[in-house]
Amino acid sequence: MLATSYPALAASNLENKISRLEHLLSVAPLTIYSRSPFSPFSITFISKSVKELTGFEADDFLNLPNLWIDNVHPEDVEQIYSNLHHVLLGEPIIQKYRFKMKNGEWKWLRERLKLVKDRATDKPLEIVGGWTDMSELIHAENALIQSQEKIQRLAHYDSLTNLPNRVLITERIEQAIHFSDRENWNFSLLFLDLDDFKIVNDSLGHHYGDALLQQVAARLQKNLRTVDTAGRLGGDEFVVILSNTNANGAANVARKIINSLKEPFNVDDKVLSIQTSIGISVYPENGRDSHTLTRHADIAMYQAKSAGRGQHCFFNIKMNAILEHRLAMERDLRVAISENQFLLHYQPQIDLASRKIVGVEALIRWHHPLRGLVSPVDFIPIAEDADLINTIGEWVLKQACEDIKAWEKAGFSGFKVAVNLSLRQLQAEQLFEKVSTILKQTGVDGSRLELELTESVMMENHAATVDFMTQCKDLGIHFSIDDFGTGYSSLSYLTKLPLLDILKIDRSFVQEISPHNDANTIVSAIVNMAKSLRLNVIAEGVETLEQLNYLQECGCDTVQGFYFSCPVNFEILTQQLTQQFTEN
Ligand code: C2E
Ligand code: MG
Ligand code: MG
Repeated sequence: MLATSYPALAASNLENKISRLEHLLSVAPLTIYSRSPFSPFSITFISKSVKELTGFEADDFLNLPNLWIDNVHPEDVEQIYSNLHHVLLGEPIIQKYRFKMKNGEWKWLRERLKLVKDRATDKPLEIVGGWTDMSELIHAENALIQSQEKIQRLAHYDSLTNLPNRVLITERIEQAIHFSDRENWNFSLLFLDLDDFKIVNDSLGHHYGDALLQQVAARLQKNLRTVDTAGRLGGDEFVVILSNTNANGAANVARKIINSLKEPFNVDDKVLSIQTSIGISVYPENGRDSHTLTRHADIAMYQAKSAGRGQHCFFNIKMNAILEHRLAMERDLRVAISENQFLLHYQPQIDLASRKIVGVEALIRWHHPLRGLVSPVDFIPIAEDADLINTIGEWVLKQACEDIKAWEKAGFSGFKVAVNLSLRQLQAEQLFEKVSTILKQTGVDGSRLELELTESVMMENHAATVDFMTQCKDLGIHFSIDDFGTGYSSLSYLTKLPLLDILKIDRSFVQEISPHNDANTIVSAIVNMAKSLRLNVIAEGVETLEQLNYLQECGCDTVQGFYFSCPVNFEILTQQLTQQFTEN
């Protein structure tokens, strides 16, 4: 026991009291003594268990009056002084703080303190308290707090990019609405979608996809002010909330983001390039709640994508109807697949020298139960976006091969059947396996088949396309480049595609053909160039004799168009073939 300068309690009394306390509370009691409420406190007595807990002896405290407070963690000292002040005013307290043990180890202590007064004089005598080692409990508590924080993070942040997730984005939009109402501001919501992210994911794997998303998230944040929020909704969809920003400001930021994300990304050994489409809604004009604002920005993003990608687009009310139509078509397309509402029409391709059908192009038609015949121009893009084109494309190929076989059985075989392939089909895995299986199953020779690719299909996926073409060539399949002149129009690019057989001049050039028109020069230039590359030329959309004559003069081999025949069904084409056969 340490001596106190106060007329202390009898030592034996105190020890008794403390050991009783120790026993009762199973704590390590100590006595703190203070000369005045404002002076440093020193320990005047410690029990056995305090010695065991701290490693300090009673003498240590005696020799160094400030030892106790000096060993309290600096961050906790202020709280202790304030609490002791309350104790001296008669209020018992319980406090927690970190205390450095004699061996240097920090421990969390829980301390109960109470003022003891001299009964006779009612003056403060000492402060009596007890320590409990709380380290384990506090660690467990900290771990609990951490795991609660972790749960909070998981609930509010996207684990891949660390950006706010849908839940937190919604909260932030609601906050933005609140601030904007209070301050009479606008704010803007950007809905971003990476164009063709799926290609990266599907062709290179999730590792590259994930790494790309992380880099996109980082780049996105670099383009924003601290008051703005960037979040990830999932997949390749991001949202940006631009606080206090009107339409002009939003357009500037959207352009900045699009340009910044256009710069190539380095992921491991690969350099990846993507584009971004952004839809924008502005508060309050385009919606008064977070759900409407997000939905409208999403709709505008869709418009940006269909306008050509790598662009931004503002929401306007007409878009709602467009989207609803699109969603209805998508729903109906799924039904069309399961109920087989498709059919194939064939458009003859006429050889200009012999005027015979040397090929036909298979063109899909959709017999919608309510809308009637729907043009592929209207539903192929929707099928592509909704990931339905592979199923539909496979059906087309199979149907075309079955029809080839049926014609062969009827004795018609001297013509090729061209089938259009969409970019998504080439991006999907195992297209070659699908093509070769269909040929095998239907018993059709590859040389009867021609596959039509567009310039953009070839450009976007050059290496994979060349691989696919090489494999198909072994089966005798021919390839044509469709709608030539409307895509990248890089004539020199054609030289990089030695596996091409046919070039199809797009209808837009053919329809411009008239005396003294520039389009004529373009058509003859395309024909000449194709010839120099030893490609056959088919002119699409030939409707008049004038066009036909001009094309013949230019050296074009084959024509396809309403002048000879519009696309017709299997039976009518069979009649046309029969007619040709009987003329021979
Ligand atoms: P495309 O491959 O360029 O097909 C030629 C389009 O031009 C066809 O339109 C055809 O009906 C039309 N056409 C032919 N001759 C004339 C003419 O003299 N004048 C005019 N004004 N048009 C003519 P269609 O059948 O509506 O097909 C449009 C596009 O849809 C096709 O363009 C093709 O890109 C796509 N498509 C059609 N069937 C399929 C398919 O099975 N798979 C895929 N992926 N796309 C297809
Ligand atoms: Mg075509
Ligand atoms: Mg075409």
